[in-house]
Amino acid sequence: MSFTLHGIAVSSGIAIGHAHLISHTSLEVAHYTLPKQLIADEIARFDAALLATRNEFASLRSNRPTHAAAEFDAFLELHQMILDDPLLSIAPRQMIANEYCNAEWALKTQTETLVAQFDQFEDAYLRERQTDVTQVAERLLKQLLGQPGHQLPPARHDIETIVVAHDLSPADLIQFKPNQYAAFITDVGGATSHTAIVARSLNRPCVVGLHHARELVREDDLLILDGQQGVLIVNPDKLILAEYKLRQSEWELDRKKLKRLRSARANTLDGTIIELHANIEKPEDIIEVKENGATGIGLFRSEFLFLNRDSLPDEEEQFEAYRASAEGMDEQPVVIRTFDLGGDKQLNGTKRVANNPALGLRAIRFCLAEPQLFRIQMRALLRATHYGNVKILIPMLSSVSELNQTLQFIAATKKSLDDEGIPYDRGVKIGGMIEIPAAALALNVFAKKLDFLSIGTNDLIQYTLAIDRTDEEVAHLYDPLHPAVLHLLSHIIGTCNRIGVPVSVCGEMAGELEYTRLLLGFGLRQFSMFSAQVPSIKQRVLTTNLPEIASLTQKILRADDPMKIRELLARLNS
Ligand code: PEP
Ligand code: MG
Repeated sequence: MSFTLHGIAVSSGIAIGHAHLISHTSLEVAHYTLPKQLIADEIARFDAALLATRNEFASLRSNRPTHAAAEFDAFLELHQMILDDPLLSIAPRQMIANEYCNAEWALKTQTETLVAQFDQFEDAYLRERQTDVTQVAERLLKQLLGQPGHQLPPARHDIETIVVAHDLSPADLIQFKPNQYAAFITDVGGATSHTAIVARSLNRPCVVGLHHARELVREDDLLILDGQQGVLIVNPDKLILAEYKLRQSEWELDRKKLKRLRSARANTLDGTIIELHANIEKPEDIIEVKENGATGIGLFRSEFLFLNRDSLPDEEEQFEAYRASAEGMDEQPVVIRTFDLGGDKQLNGTKRVANNPALGLRAIRFCLAEPQLFRIQMRALLRATHYGNVKILIPMLSSVSELNQTLQFIAATKKSLDDEGIPYDRGVKIGGMIEIPAAALALNVFAKKLDFLSIGTNDLIQYTLAIDRTDEEVAHLYDPLHPAVLHLLSHIIGTCNRIGVPVSVCGEMAGELEYTRLLLGFGLRQFSMFSAQVPSIKQRVLTTNLPEIASLTQKILRADDPMKIRELLARLNS
């Protein structure tokens, strides 16, 4: 049966391929009742999953790397003990037999009971073991869902594969980097969530907020995904398929043509030079940065080095990653942001406990609360400044005391490197992200103490309009053209230009063609975006005459009616 679903377009392009359903990594499962005659089969299914999980542990033990620490054995032993706990290995069988429910539901319910028991422990160490319970239950659940281990399914190279998921965390998605999936779709998520940002950096079409795609699409269904319009067509007829194949080749041809602009300078028609930089998550992304002609890295989201792993990167590993980026870009600027963990990017083994993670211990707040981790990163960053044009960027600043504390921390780290005779760039530039309205409104003090500023529009909009950027239910309210947002942007850019502090935009607005002229009109001269978008933005810059757009930009800023703002913006872009 053919049908169409509409979601939120987050990464352009057209993909045609077969569906590959993947499961949610958390214990979110369906609940259904089975007829009595299927209960024995359901219990057998649970037993098979249990056995497969035990075998998985056995194979982990026998393939244990020789250099693995003793903790590895202890960890395995603990997880095996948890698996053998009657609440996980026996109670679900009984529940299936008594309540005629599906095995996944029985497992989830019993896991919650076990987690609640751990919660009662006085001893903090034992209490923390609830994370291990969840990990073991997830392993078992993946067996039940027919997806062993923590392996991602291999991409099939004979046909294009489109990943269909209820939800994908940024950590899930970054694992797809080396694979060649054609596109991604999810039921939940917003346009500027980190999952969407990673999809753009993979340069694959992606649509989020499709609500029920994971339920409605079946494995291997033929799909067309239009990442520009946010449309998913399931099992299209021949005519529609032919039409989209044509659109797909036209789109690819356009991209190829745009790439010819790679080495052209991004000058406006009146001769103003505009810097177009790229956002990256890993040093390997530099290949694409160069292919697309970006002239620097405006935002290296260093926290992606910390995701999807059970141990954290040490100083040497981080140093190598930062040095590789610095050297990879020759003398071009590389702005590395200190890790922005918390919010929707969590370390393995930590759970979201805050009611409002976006308002909680995130970014610089998290760094200052974890000085050991922060010190390791700061040492690695400072050491890397010796090998190229590295600048350090502090995320999510909200108060001066936070800024002072951070600057003191950097000074102390420099001193320890001095004491050890380790070289670094003594003039390293320290910048701050303006992404909280409080920082935007109290801009002068940040501008005075920092060498440069970078506007994170994704968060600035989230915090100004009180809209969770990861929540598709409120995604329609996420509005970069809201007069409050426009006033903040014009204020930040104007103030920085007046007092001579370099400013850029590194949020998703910088990579959206619709806003290029508006931002240029506000006085922005430096943009940072996902690499693949650099050629399109360059083309827009090349066709813009700054004196000509000045008055229209001011009119947009004075307008307060949303329709009027959109009408004026359309004129600006025509
Ligand atoms: C932003 O908030 O705009 C930004 C660039 O940072 P991130 O998207 O990583 O929060
Ligand atoms: Mg941000």
